[in-house]
Amino acid sequence: MAAAVRPMFFKKNVNAPKKRRKRRTIAQHVRVIKDAPSKLRERVTQELYKRNAELAVRNKTLALLRKLDEISLSSDKIDEMAQQIVDAIASELGYEVAAISLVDIEKNRRHCVAVGSSNPDLARTLKGVCPLLPDIILDETPDAKRAVETGIQTYSDDLSGVFAKGLVEAIQKVETQMAIPLSSHSMMLPLRFGNQTLGLLSLSTSRSFKDSSQYEHESLSGIVGLVSLALYKAKIYDDLQTTSAELVAANHKLTDLDKAKSEFLSIASHQLRTPLTALRGYISMLVEGDYGPLREEQKPILDILNKSAVRLIDLINNLLDISRIESGRFELNLESLDVVQIAKELVGDLLPNAINKQLQLQFHDPVGEVPHAVVDSQRIRQVMLNFIDNSIKYTPAGRVDVFVRREGDELVFCVQDTGKGITKEELELLFNKFSRVGGASRFHTEGTGLGLYVAKQIVKEHHGEVEVSSEGRDKGSTFGMRLPIEGSAKSLKVGEKASVVIKAAEAQGNGGDK
Ligand code: ADP
Repeated sequence: MAAAVRPMFFKKNVNAPKKRRKRRTIAQHVRVIKDAPSKLRERVTQELYKRNAELAVRNKTLALLRKLDEISLSSDKIDEMAQQIVDAIASELGYEVAAISLVDIEKNRRHCVAVGSSNPDLARTLKGVCPLLPDIILDETPDAKRAVETGIQTYSDDLSGVFAKGLVEAIQKVETQMAIPLSSHSMMLPLRFGNQTLGLLSLSTSRSFKDSSQYEHESLSGIVGLVSLALYKAKIYDDLQTTSAELVAANHKLTDLDKAKSEFLSIASHQLRTPLTALRGYISMLVEGDYGPLREEQKPILDILNKSAVRLIDLINNLLDISRIESGRFELNLESLDVVQIAKELVGDLLPNAINKQLQLQFHDPVGEVPHAVVDSQRIRQVMLNFIDNSIKYTPAGRVDVFVRREGDELVFCVQDTGKGITKEELELLFNKFSRVGGASRFHTEGTGLGLYVAKQIVKEHHGEVEVSSEGRDKGSTFGMRLPIEGSAKSLKVGEKASVVIKAAEAQGNGGDK
């Protein structure tokens, strides 16, 4: 600071050889000032006074900025943070009223969040009033509105142009009690972040802001920057809290809806399945001639009826499985089984379908021994049948080969065909609910797109995985599953109660996993 006082009355001789000047002590400075002519002495004293005042403001501002920084780091709740901020500003900078209000420009409204005062009596009264104040329309306080609209600091000598009616009354009441005007001059500083106006900082005091130094104004803009940032952070945190609470509520609602949907599906499917099974039974009896010989023209009609009934029963069974899976009521009856044997039997059962399409369907005996796996016989059969049946359905010509082999602790079942194949993009969608790809719905109308989805959930519950690969359209595909062999770490145990509990959304979202 010595440099600030020094050059006022000593002119430097620029031509003089550079000497190392000795620094004067404060006592020497004072002596020099005393010895100087009186006018100069007055000027220097004024300058010193000004610099000292600036220094005081600078120190106060620095302390306040540090405090505001701490407040912004320690608190996330808007109300709490705003209160600490106005308390700090009012007490450190000596304002009779310091208030923060949040502004909603679209709704043309503002809401008082915190008020503080350097005067303890006023502070107590205002803090009691602020939480009770309703939101106000911006037009009710025209000076504040001007600050919000222009985005620049605005002055007013009329409290009612700045604060809500309730607050003005409270201020005036305390002023009357204390018999001194506390806050005749106000300044409003818009709190902005980017091009968004978040709120307003209003400061009131008995001294006029016109007397404030340039430095005081600069300090205030520094403070406003920090307050705006703190408010913005708190607002984001507040919005996040609200959004996540809304999300949790929406999630609960969805879960309830999902349960209701699964229950409805289950009830509806049961009600449909019973009459359909009877229908199919009677159609079979008619076809087999139990009610007398059929006329030739009746046969194709009954054949269509039979196929339609089978399709409907398959669809209902799949829907029932899904509703059981998604509501956690899908149970597995676990036993130790020879998967090779099951595969062989299934190939035998489906051979007529392959022959009908002039396809080669072949089961390849495994090279080495394949151990048993602990599975639900009916469910694993369902998965294997789906893979082989699909290969036959989606292979116009060529062959379908079925393999079972052991790979380490796993048993691999796979079906390889020379059929329609699957593109890379379609592979991602295959195991999703109702997903049919490659125009399957056009050339194979009876599919539902549910078989693979159900298969994946069943295999998953056996602690296994489904797999699919294809070189692309018309290049055939290979569908398969890996199951843990009996006794391996991942294997289920015979008699163990396992139930599939897969939330609808989760299952749908993971549908594309391979
Ligand atoms: P669906 O056969 O009833 O349509 P799936 O869930 O069993 O239902 O199969 C879903 C879709 O996957 C099928 O519609 C078909 O597009 C495709 N897909 C399944 N298996 C094959 C296969 N072997 N070759 C080509 N596409 C297949």
